[in-house]
Amino acid sequence: MEYDLISVGAGGAGLAAAVTAAEAGKKAIILDRLRVTGGASVFAKGLFACQSHIQKQEGVEIDPDKIFLQHMEYTHYLSNARLVRAIIDKSADTIKWLEDRGTVYRGVPPLYPDAPRTWHTTKQEGKGITKGLTNKAKELGIPIHFRTRARKLIIEDGKIAGVIADDKDGNTIQYRGKTVVIASGGFANNEDMMRKYTDSGEPTIQMAFGQVGKEGDGIKMAWEAGAAEEGTHVIQRGLAGVLKKKEVLTEAPTKSQFDKHITAILKQPTFWVNANGERFFNESEFSFAHIGNAMSKQPDQVLFNMFDDDYRKLMEEEGLQVGLGVFAPTGTKVPDVPKALQASMEKDEAWICDTIEQLCEKTGMNLEVLKASMDEYNGFCDKGRDALFAKNQKFMKPIRKAPFYAIKGHPTHVGTLGGIKINHKCEVIKKSSKTFLDVIPGLYAAGNVAGGMYNDTYDASHTLGLTLAFAYNSGRIAGETALEYLGK
Ligand SMILES: Cc1cc2nc3c(=O)[nH]c(=O)nc-3n(C[C@H](O)[C@H](O)[C@H](O)COP(=O)(O)OP(=O)(O)OC[C@H]3O[C@@H](n4cnc5c(N)ncnc54)[C@H](O)[C@@H]3O)c2cc1C
Repeated sequence: MEYDLISVGAGGAGLAAAVTAAEAGKKAIILDRLRVTGGASVFAKGLFACQSHIQKQEGVEIDPDKIFLQHMEYTHYLSNARLVRAIIDKSADTIKWLEDRGTVYRGVPPLYPDAPRTWHTTKQEGKGITKGLTNKAKELGIPIHFRTRARKLIIEDGKIAGVIADDKDGNTIQYRGKTVVIASGGFANNEDMMRKYTDSGEPTIQMAFGQVGKEGDGIKMAWEAGAAEEGTHVIQRGLAGVLKKKEVLTEAPTKSQFDKHITAILKQPTFWVNANGERFFNESEFSFAHIGNAMSKQPDQVLFNMFDDDYRKLMEEEGLQVGLGVFAPTGTKVPDVPKALQASMEKDEAWICDTIEQLCEKTGMNLEVLKASMDEYNGFCDKGRDALFAKNQKFMKPIRKAPFYAIKGHPTHVGTLGGIKINHKCEVIKKSSKTFLDVIPGLYAAGNVAGGMYNDTYDASHTLGLTLAFAYNSGRIAGETALEYLGK
């Protein structure tokens, strides 16, 4: 049997590519090393688009040219401008395409104060989108071979001719195919690759939320077949997490693992210091990429989120100053702050102390450094201006009234964002190529395995939801380009 298109990976990108091909009457197949479809795409909460019908319904107007220019500026023009443009331009159509295939949208809420409303949230979150596409794939008769791990690309006469994979019993199987879309979602679980290609450092290696079996197989297969490399260093850093590296989540969080109250408290723009007790960041900068990046440069990459009893009262009586996405909107009252901290206190990850001296004893922070940081910060609060990090005045609350509260925040990331060099049609560029035209015929890459969208970091300031959007849009584009190739 020879397939027209083989998707390596049944996450967002792989599903989108296979469905695109099958809807055009082509024989597609999907391989995934796990037992279920969805990959990391099930964990995402929303995807980027501009000028979608959902935004129009909500009266949100976002100029695609402005978004494009902002993204290029943010990436210092080191991203692939044609690829960026292709994703932005297709994004609204993809929102509708997914809706027609089972996705139900909630709307485009701002993820944090003043965030751009590009983040399309769905009723069943990321899982709702992959479920819709999985149902569509089944309806179209696309076989999905689970527990099947792709290992190598078959190249004949300089063109793609299929994939070699291991099945669940370790047997080697050859899948013959005229085109292959690599959509295997990065290398977050491959410690050697994380060490070699990223600057995440040893301590963060196990902090990849929602990632299972991402060992960079697809990227290595493409490189071995002569693909050029791009963007392998980029990781999608996130907010500080209340979980420690040993407790990292690889499936949807259970209620005991994910307490929205403590997670939301940790996110509040209180007074943040590093492991020494030194303030290091403008706490009113809400881009989680920026928070993650700043944390990554601190000792042990951890932070302590501190507040006093007045702030405890504010959260209980007036509510959160900053919401937690779809879980707890701004203004949500935390019924009992000490109770929300209880589970973390038992694990020595949160503390309530009558004095700063006690707090330093428990946390290991340097008393002199912490006192100096607090005095400086309280002075800024009194004067109404943060002369150090220009924090938004609205969020500046002094830290004076005992007891004092502290929560330890750990570094997180949600995946790697590059590896294979592609052009704006998601064709894989040859290593030897000096142009974007010299491609490996029949080979495409989509989603987290493909580079070119970023410079050194994900952008959670202008294009919120871009990585999930990239998975679906690049998956569709890869499928469409494969159709053009098959038609030749
Ligand atoms: C907790 C969390 C929250 C997130 N929230 C957001 C958000 O709100 N907005 C946003 O834009 N992005 C978000 N992201 C990022 C986003 O989910 C990813 O960028 C996107 O899902 C990547 O899609 P993908 O198809 O490339 O990979 P995946 O969805 O991970 O799919 C890859 C698939 O390939 C399979 N695979 C791996 N190796 C092989 C192999 N050798 N052979 C066969 N199959 C293989 C895997 O099992 C997996 O099923 C979040 C990520 C996480 C983890």
